[in-house]
Amino acid sequence: IAQSSDLKTVEREVSEWAEERFTEIRELKERESFRREFIGNVSHELKTPIFNIQGYILTLLDGAIDDPKINMKYLNRANKSVERMINLVQDMDVLNKLESGVMDVRKQSFDILKVCKEVFEMVEEKAAEKNIKLKYKKEYDKPIKVEGDPNRIEQVLSNLVMNAVKYSKTNGYVEIGIFDMADKYLIEVSDDGLGIPENDVPRIFERFYRVDKSRSRDIAGSGLGLAIVKHIIDAHKQTINVRSTEGVGSTFSFTLKKAK
Ligand code: ADP
Repeated sequence: IAQSSDLKTVEREVSEWAEERFTEIRELKERESFRREFIGNVSHELKTPIFNIQGYILTLLDGAIDDPKINMKYLNRANKSVERMINLVQDMDVLNKLESGVMDVRKQSFDILKVCKEVFEMVEEKAAEKNIKLKYKKEYDKPIKVEGDPNRIEQVLSNLVMNAVKYSKTNGYVEIGIFDMADKYLIEVSDDGLGIPENDVPRIFERFYRVDKSRSRDIAGSGLGLAIVKHIIDAHKQTINVRSTEGVGSTFSFTLKKAK
């Protein structure tokens, strides 16, 4: 009896040991495929602006530099491509810091309405280009005090509002609503823009995920904005949701604790 129970113990230990190794191997494989995918995404996103810049330079070298009208056009285009790369690198930097926990969340009490107003001011020009109306669900005339890191929440709102403007139709609107929900506020950013196909909705918070490459090709973006948003909301232990209908519009909503 003693022998058979020893054998059972050994058997159990061996199978536990094997299971741990399997888990280790699986994790290593996952990390490796994540690393490969990440490098693939970054090089893909950098390729377009770099080749564009090279094209503009070659055109200038080819003689266009002597024509003051054409050279300005190509230099401006090259500058746009550089801006695109800067945005990508900045977004990667923010995401990296958030994911490695280097960027701390400094919670304090602040007025979310003031942040909304600042974000609307920031995108005013871009919205005007497409005649998009920036509005509020109703008139909010008193400060709305919430708890969180005001700089990070400003980044959340500016990413959401910027997306709403970017993926909106001409003459559309972007609307912010703030709803009182017992110990929290629900903050909604809605638009009547392109919307998101049902199948893509679950994936849009993933890094580098962009809906339909052909649709996104003309609209600059890194595909990192919503990954950053999700991280910040998670760090606040709050939730974010999206409702969207293709061709009709989207609503992103997140919660924040009321300030005590
Ligand atoms: P991007 O830099 O591509 O805008 P995001 O992470 O901010 O990256 O968004 C991921 C994708 O989700 C976008 O490429 C776009 O396809 C889709 N998306 C985000 N916000 C909206 C919106 N308000 N309306 C329609 N599509 C959106």
